Amino acid sequence: MSRNLLHTEFDSIAALRNALQGRKVSAREVAVSALDAAHAHAGLNAFLQIDPELTLAQAQAADKLLDAGQATPLTGIPIAHKDVFVTQGWRTTAASKMLGSYVSPFDATVVGKLLQAGTVSIGKLNCDEFAMGSGNENSAFGPTKNPWDHSAVPGGSSGGSAAAVAAGLVLAATGTDTGGSVRQPAALCGVSGIKPTYGTVSRYGMIAYGSSLDQAGPIARHARDLLDLLDTMSGFDPRDSTSLETCDGAQNIPGRMRADFEGAIKVQNASGALPLQGLRIGVPTEFFNAGLASDVADAVEAALKIFESLGAVRVSISLPRTELSIPTYYVIAPAEASSNLSRYDGVRYGHRAAQYHDLAEMTSRSRTEGFGPEVLRRIMVGTYVLSHGYYDAYYLQAQRVRRMIVNDFQQAFTNQCDVIMGPVTPTVAKHIGDNREDPTADWLADVYTLGVSLAGLPAMSIPCGFGSPARPLPIGLQIIGNYFNEGQLLAIADRFQQVTDWHQRKPGQQ
Ligand code: GLN
Repeated sequence: MSRNLLHTEFDSIAALRNALQGRKVSAREVAVSALDAAHAHAGLNAFLQIDPELTLAQAQAADKLLDAGQATPLTGIPIAHKDVFVTQGWRTTAASKMLGSYVSPFDATVVGKLLQAGTVSIGKLNCDEFAMGSGNENSAFGPTKNPWDHSAVPGGSSGGSAAAVAAGLVLAATGTDTGGSVRQPAALCGVSGIKPTYGTVSRYGMIAYGSSLDQAGPIARHARDLLDLLDTMSGFDPRDSTSLETCDGAQNIPGRMRADFEGAIKVQNASGALPLQGLRIGVPTEFFNAGLASDVADAVEAALKIFESLGAVRVSISLPRTELSIPTYYVIAPAEASSNLSRYDGVRYGHRAAQYHDLAEMTSRSRTEGFGPEVLRRIMVGTYVLSHGYYDAYYLQAQRVRRMIVNDFQQAFTNQCDVIMGPVTPTVAKHIGDNREDPTADWLADVYTLGVSLAGLPAMSIPCGFGSPARPLPIGLQIIGNYFNEGQLLAIADRFQQVTDWHQRKPGQQ
């Protein structure tokens, strides 16, 4: 097997960019190395499709830009897309049999923006079917494995994205986060990931799950790399009705995030004192409940101490509806999913049953055959909570609680703290197949990520340690910001990563 460049000399976008722009290595050489690595690690089942011809054509275009001195910060960088972003040329399956052979006639806005910036796509990444799940076990094409321990899940739903970055198959990957699906797999695979404020990144061409929650975000090793990616991905898009035109007074345009990031670093440097002097970190008591495993609690605690040593102060806060975020989310998300997924009727596109007697039977058979058990479960729950007689009791009630959750966060940010920190997951990655008997057990493990999604806030996960010797798997620290503070979050994470090396650890090298 050839040497994997992304696992050795170029393990960050910043490092590879220098080499590419200095023409020490070509985009083609990097792409070939990434394709070889993806092939060598096929056992991870991180990729659902690889097409060397398409990849090498993109690499050639990137080399042209680099030769002409017209490169952007991302030109020639090997990335890959979660298979819920539609892509011209590649299939887009949402890891579902329903879309098993679907090829989109257009690129999702996120895909188009990254392509325009000169990134080179290595392929389409495995995920939970229609992004529903927390372990990547709900893929119709088999689970993705955690590169740190092949018997463990990589997290979900963006499991292929986090696994591919952790294994060094790509330097970055796109993911989507409806209730935690960027932060949670990033945490369980020991890489960094950010979900921006709802409305910052266009949802156009992103296969819909829960439209009022869905938001795209990048996964990479370093917070600084996330900045380059998110800055490129974000921006107002008239084709998404919930895309924001302005963000906290500033226009929602690419470049905004970088300005905020650099502004935050400048303020930190100018303070003359410690880099994060006076930063108030809210630590919610509800995040340290009985369900939190002690190895995760210890790693998060140690990370908080590091922040204190950088000048931050810790404030105890309360997010009293943390536990209620689970039933609230698992009413609203399935309700929206049941509506979004009604378009898969076997008529327009997607799987169509081979045998049927009439139109109604064709639709029902196509859906029964095309959707997996978790997706069917969500459609049933969603249809039930929206039905006449139950709408007020469940859906409307959940919307009321959602508003209270929003208010709880605003109360904390207005009166007590600048950012909130805590765990991402209650435990390290579980074994593949662990919760097979009880599908709702996975739902409970989303307790620390769902509230943020319901509130539409930006949040990230960065590596902060490993589990107990019995299961020494990666642990993530969650950093939650107020609306539009992505740049500040990334700057804070970057400070942490300057004094720690958790994000640089690699499977097989620990
Ligand atoms: N685990 C959550 C769910 O299954 C979140 C998934 C997501 O963020 N896409 O819905």
